[in-house]
Amino acid sequence: MSIDRRKFIAGIGMGGASLLMARHAAAQAVSGNDKPGAAAAPADLAAERGTVLYTIGTKGGPRVGGRRGNPANLLMVDGVPFVVDCGYGVSRGLVDAGLPLDKLKYVFITHHHSDHNLEYGNLFYNGWVTNLRTPVKSYGPIGIEQMTRDFWALNRIDVATRMADEGRVDPHPLLQAHDLPGPGKVMEADGVRVTSAHMLHPPLEHCFAYRFDTPHGAVVFSGDTAYNPKLADFAKGADVLVHEVVYPPGVDKLVERVANDKEAFKHHLLASHTTPEDAGKIAQAAGVKTLVLSHFVPGDMDWITDAMWQEGAGKHFKGQVIVARDRQRIPVG
Ligand SMILES: [Zn+2]
Ligand SMILES: [Zn+2]
Repeated sequence: MSIDRRKFIAGIGMGGASLLMARHAAAQAVSGNDKPGAAAAPADLAAERGTVLYTIGTKGGPRVGGRRGNPANLLMVDGVPFVVDCGYGVSRGLVDAGLPLDKLKYVFITHHHSDHNLEYGNLFYNGWVTNLRTPVKSYGPIGIEQMTRDFWALNRIDVATRMADEGRVDPHPLLQAHDLPGPGKVMEADGVRVTSAHMLHPPLEHCFAYRFDTPHGAVVFSGDTAYNPKLADFAKGADVLVHEVVYPPGVDKLVERVANDKEAFKHHLLASHTTPEDAGKIAQAAGVKTLVLSHFVPGDMDWITDAMWQEGAGKHFKGQVIVARDRQRIPVG
């Protein structure tokens, strides 16, 4: 048994604070690509200074399985959390990373595929039942405002019951959704400027990449996209580019197990995602320092090794390539 595993088990019997620290030890254990000498994350991420990226869930697609969780990212900027995408399991992933859910403040959805928005409403809900009392602003392609109204309709019995029976605050005004009609400036607050660019993710019309310019550096999330040279312009000079990837030989294995039209599914996957080689080209053209590969398609086949993902990107990109794991801690700047 590893030391970290022993610490984790010891923590279970030692109360919440120790457990949280043990969780960080476990998270750090898989953070093989952290910068040398980087300080360990504090027990409560809200106490953390600087800009730090956490890749919460790194598997592409809505299917649940394997060692990777569904897509979600967390960018902490001087203790303020910015959540990017809400795949299934995002609440659990954030808690395991050390973010108390009553600290939620900003949520960004790249597009309305369920692997990116399935837990959007439930994430806010889980914050509400963790004593969240402050507004959460959410942003996404057109549809996020309606999705928010629909979420309240779906859960009206429970919410009304808990307000009356448990005296909880009315959560409706706290979740403030913003439809983004097109690319451009999204918001600016807490020292962070967020902008968006249209990506290529057919057949969906609207899929955004998001760029976060922080006091410590810039981080760009590609969202889901086919190879898109315009992303290199959008990510110009960023410190970190988090780019989605598809591994074509894995797609053949992936379509074998689906019950739907195999050719149509294969066509969708290859037409709407980016190979590691092409992600490397984008990173090189953008001149970023670090390329973080994430949203792996397929993301639940262990025969596809980290080296296989990394090799393609490294053909074209001369900077650091990180093959992201769930809850990996990546300091920025
Ligand atoms: Zn996706
Ligand atoms: Zn998608």
